[in-house]
This record gives sequence, C-alpha cells and structure tokens, in this order.
Amino acid sequence: MTDATALPGQPRGGALSGPATARAVNVLAHNASPMTLDGTNTWIVAEPDSELAVVIDPGPLDDGHLRHVVDTAGRAGRRVALTLLTHGHPDHAEGAARFAELTGTRVRALDPALRLGDEGLGAGDVVTVGGLELRVVPTPGHTADSLSFHLPADRAVLTGDTVLGRGTTVVAHPDGRLGDYLDSLRRLRSLTVDDGVRTVLPGHGPVLEDAQGAVEYYLAHRAHRLAQVETAVEDGYRTPAEVVAHVYADVDRSLWPAAELSVRAQLEYLEEHGLIR
Ligand SMILES: [Zn+2]
Repeated sequence: MTDATALPGQPRGGALSGPATARAVNVLAHNASPMTLDGTNTWIVAEPDSELAVVIDPGPLDDGHLRHVVDTAGRAGRRVALTLLTHGHPDHAEGAARFAELTGTRVRALDPALRLGDEGLGAGDVVTVGGLELRVVPTPGHTADSLSFHLPADRAVLTGDTVLGRGTTVVAHPDGRLGDYLDSLRRLRSLTVDDGVRTVLPGHGPVLEDAQGAVEYYLAHRAHRLAQVETAVEDGYRTPAEVVAHVYADVDRSLWPAAELSVRAQLEYLEEHGLIR
C-alpha cells in the first residue's frame, strides 16, 4: 500500500521474479494495483546448499501463483518447510492456508488468528530452517501485527509493507499507529547502522540497495507529512477528508482513501502529543 511515488533507497529496476540476494528469490504475484504496486512479492528464502526453504507471504488466494511458488522452489531442488507472514493483509496472507495445504507446512505469524500449527512468532524469535537464520523484528505501525525478518547472512531485511520498494506505506489507522510506525522505522535504521543491513527486500516493488537511505527517506517523509497535517489543522482544515484534499493534493485520487487512514493516524498522534486539539 502506497501513498506517494518518490523513489527512495536506490531501487533495483522494477519488481521482478527471480533471485534478489544469495538466499532470497522473489515470485511476483499477479495482483498489481495502485495499492499493491507491481503485485505482492512472495519470498522464497533458503541457504544456498539446503534442500529446505522458508516462504514469506504466500500472497493472495491465487492457486496459480501458489503452485508457481512451490514449483519455483522445487526447480531449485528445494522443499518448502515453513511459511511465515509479515502481516495479515489479504494481499500477503489470504493464500496462506491454501499454501500450507499444498506444502504441508505450518504458518507462523504474530496474529494468532493467522497461524496454522502451534508456533507463534514474535520479538526476539530466531527462525532456523536448514541452516538458514531469520531474526524476527517487530515493526508495528502499518498494521499492529507487522513483522520484518532480518536475514543477517545476506545483510538484508524483509520488510513486508513497513518499507516498500517504491513510494511510501500507509499507516492503516486505527490498527496501525504512527508512534509505533516511527519507532519501527528507527528499529530498522538501527539494523542498517549497527548490524550492517544493506538491502531491503520489500513486500511490494523493487529491491532497495540502500537500506539506510530508504529508511532515512521514510523518516523524513513522515516528519514532512506530519508537519503538513499540523499546519493544515492550524489553517482550519478540520476533517480527515479536508486534510487529505489539502495535504495529498499531489497524490493520485485513487490513493486518497488510503491517505485518509494515514491522516487519521497522524491526527491521533498530534492529539496524543498535545500538538493540536
Ligand atoms: Zn499491508
């Protein structure tokens, strides 16, 4: 989900199916739209010499896509051993139960309602499959249940909708909260500064080769939008719809309903911090 068209973080072309790092392969789902960019990126992640793979975000309930993911892993000599979800939005998670059926895997997610099997997923968890190591990084804000997955061996992070390959994401109020989102961006920035993460493998759009630049851009963009919303309220724009029409005038109208969610999140944040009333 996106609300702008700028290009942070040195995107690597368009979103394409195929290898992105030594361990991560993208299979692009056929659900392109203004909200999903080129479509959902379904990631197959595995150690180079392993027969076992992890799939992150099977995507929409599209049997052709789900089977294509299984086949792609199979052609590389791999069996899908585990399914993970970055969050519960249908363009990422709707196909998870069917995918689990096709592969005989468990589904792990932060939200218990999305899990299949008895294992959850949360802060500090380290997922290991066939020698592969993925560290779970809680990144709420786009939604309350949003997670990112740090892939240290490739100096990469899989961000779901928290950071996109193009544009910026929606803080999906009321489930998504701006204060959480800013904390999550700072957590991702610390991964780039302190843990050497270079590459963003996003849930939509192209791979980003400058993870720190992308996160800095997102933080700057959020601060800029927040200042614009604060000024709009001071200038007498009161309802979320009025603020959207004023602040997001440069954004395609098809994205205004999503922008309104972000504006509601921003108004809530400004009120909570006593910046408007
Ligand atoms: Zn989402």
